[in-house]
Amino acid sequence: MAPVRTAARLDGIPPTIFSTMSALAVRTGAVNLGQGFPDVDGPPEVIAAAVAALESGANQYAPGIGIPALRNAIVRHQRRHYGIELDPDTEVVVTTGCTEGIAAALLGLVNPGDEVVVLEPYYDSYVAMLQMAGGVRRPVTLRAPDFRMDLDELRAAVTDRTRFVLLNTPHNPTGTVLTREELAAVAEVAVERDLVVITDEVYEHLTFTGYEHVPMATLPGMAERTLTLSSAGKSYSFTGWKVGWATGPAELVGALLSAKQWLTFTSGSPLQPAVAAALDEHPDFPAALAAELEGKRDLLCAGLEKVGLQGRPPAGTYFATSDITHLGWPDAMAFCLALPERAGVVAIPTQPFYDDPDAGRQLIRWAFCKQTSVIEEALSRLAGADLAYGDGQ
Ligand code: GLN
Repeated sequence: MAPVRTAARLDGIPPTIFSTMSALAVRTGAVNLGQGFPDVDGPPEVIAAAVAALESGANQYAPGIGIPALRNAIVRHQRRHYGIELDPDTEVVVTTGCTEGIAAALLGLVNPGDEVVVLEPYYDSYVAMLQMAGGVRRPVTLRAPDFRMDLDELRAAVTDRTRFVLLNTPHNPTGTVLTREELAAVAEVAVERDLVVITDEVYEHLTFTGYEHVPMATLPGMAERTLTLSSAGKSYSFTGWKVGWATGPAELVGALLSAKQWLTFTSGSPLQPAVAAALDEHPDFPAALAAELEGKRDLLCAGLEKVGLQGRPPAGTYFATSDITHLGWPDAMAFCLALPERAGVVAIPTQPFYDDPDAGRQLIRWAFCKQTSVIEEALSRLAGADLAYGDGQ
């Protein structure tokens, strides 16, 4: 047989760094502060609702658009938190996590050659899916140490071929939460240049004291041109359930659904009633989770500072970033690959999320969505390790 080659549409797309680093953590027994997943599950009552659904026959295909109970719960969620009104039959679709939402949105909307303005560092699936869709990414770079959006860079990124802005707030990996003013600037450009905004807001509830998440769809003139993606994974600590949703105008949701029907066709039946129960019956869980995460952010960032890895406290998400320039490594990838052996800890290099090779070369991301004892163990390992480049590296 002739050698099999991966299709050209995946050229240059490496295995996702999250799987690589989690596998490294398992292999070396390191404390995994890499891939962002909590080590405590969400509400037991919600798990019980999933078990009940499994046992009461919710085991065949759900409608592709999602079961009515969940779509209605999503409508109530958007109304309760943001005052957004949606039609559950045409303006909401359930997805297999936000990752499928991103894939289906891009495959359903982007034509080959369309330019898409994206915040860099990118969540890695954006790059892969844009390439598979034939879209062309036009980065707007969030630079250390403050990771703010440069509005001139945003305007300069838009050309006559630009059709979309792919936004992410609260932002993974930097922890930046875009302000109302920054969003208003994006909205102004979007309206002026007739762009659709696809916005990944999976960390919508995970913001910390002094910062507020503003959904793009709530800005004047934006509801009609914004496709919003979110999920239960982050808000309810069920990242493995892969239940997400897309909301927005019927044409945008419909385009996403046109692609989704050929990807997964439909999302997991027994988890949908459980997520509906989470949204309706545990509306305060995400805020309590955010308060708990804020304490963990502070613990991690204070500990990192003590070991010379100054973590800039993020405004939201699961993640803090450190600049390792002073340690002398050629790049963050080399540092992160060596860290399990050096210190017994895993972190994620932020480098692969940038096109600009310099902007992310020395940045690493830590996840603090872990039990306090786990964060403390990681910090004590880091404190006892020699982290400087050298010694045969
Ligand atoms: N969203 C998670 C993170 O950023 C990872 C999800 C994944 O592994 N695809 O760590």
